[in-house]
Amino acid sequence: CGIVGYVGTQQAPPLLLEGLTRLEHRGYDSAGLALLGSTGIKVEKRAGRVRDLADGLPKRFAGKVGIGHTRWATHGPANDVNAHPHTDAKGLVAVVHNGIIDNAAALRHRLADGGVDLVSDTDTEVLAHLVALSEAPTLEGKVVDALAQVEGTYGLAVVHADFADRLVVARNGSPLLIGVGEKEMYVASDLAAIVRHTTTIAHLADGEIATVTAGGFTTYGGDLRPVARTAETVDVDP
Ligand code: GLU
Repeated sequence: CGIVGYVGTQQAPPLLLEGLTRLEHRGYDSAGLALLGSTGIKVEKRAGRVRDLADGLPKRFAGKVGIGHTRWATHGPANDVNAHPHTDAKGLVAVVHNGIIDNAAALRHRLADGGVDLVSDTDTEVLAHLVALSEAPTLEGKVVDALAQVEGTYGLAVVHADFADRLVVARNGSPLLIGVGEKEMYVASDLAAIVRHTTTIAHLADGEIATVTAGGFTTYGGDLRPVARTAETVDVDP
């Protein structure tokens, strides 16, 4: 339902929680965060309000790269396990996703036949496993590999412990925008989540993916050929 992401010089959790809170009017049943820390990926998620998530965060939940999500359940009930972010078995990859993966049932079967333990009821979880299983050398390549197997709609954001300087985002039928700051970058499904921090915005088009680091962003077509997309200042009513 709602996505927000941050990469920069500040601690990500307060910024992500604030962004999720600003998306609350859209409705949701669960919320969660994933951070890239010095020891890999850390995930905190639960059914309920963003406030409950915030109150339950461990003291040492720190990192300058992270993603957050508010879920409106389509596949599987609202509970802690089904909340996003979803991870692969090794905890190297974390994914937040808006939309519906239409061929999730077939992909779940294929993954299970290959020995993958699926822990949630969601369509989204397959994305984390598919990214983790890809042998492409770059995170962008892994995401493209995963998306090539997926039918459906998505706005998504991915972090990977082995590519700790970046978020990779993608869109097909569900909005995703990139917000440019000073040595920091935001991503969101809705301008409301990040407008307090930046009004310099680039919109992804359907079928595109983007790499977002603290220093900037690059957008690609589904074939990973770079597509020029510039950020523009948007007018916002105060
Ligand atoms: N289909 C996903 C799920 O049920 C994402 C739902 C959403 O857009 O929040 O977990």
